[in-house]
Amino acid sequence: MNMFLLVLVGSGVIVIFARQCWLRLRSTEEEAYYFTRCQACQQKVRYAAANAGGKGMCPRCLRPLYLPETSQPLSRPLSPHRVGERLLQKT
Ligand SMILES: [Zn+2]
Repeated sequence: MNMFLLVLVGSGVIVIFARQCWLRLRSTEEEAYYFTRCQACQQKVRYAAANAGGKGMCPRCLRPLYLPETSQPLSRPLSPHRVGERLLQKT
């Protein structure tokens, strides 16, 4: 009987431990951050991936901000074709 209880408690502890590990892994996944740029002031804004698709607030101009479901490329210049356009105008 004692042996049975020991196995029961032991397996219970293993299940709880596995569950906590899984929850921890899941929470770190949710703590991933996405980036976007404020449409009003061009401020780079970081937001939790869990909030993607919702609404946030720009920390700089305090305006409501749409949080895209995918991270936005921020390295892209605002006007990437400016140099090319100038070259085209010259020729
Ligand atoms: Zn802003």
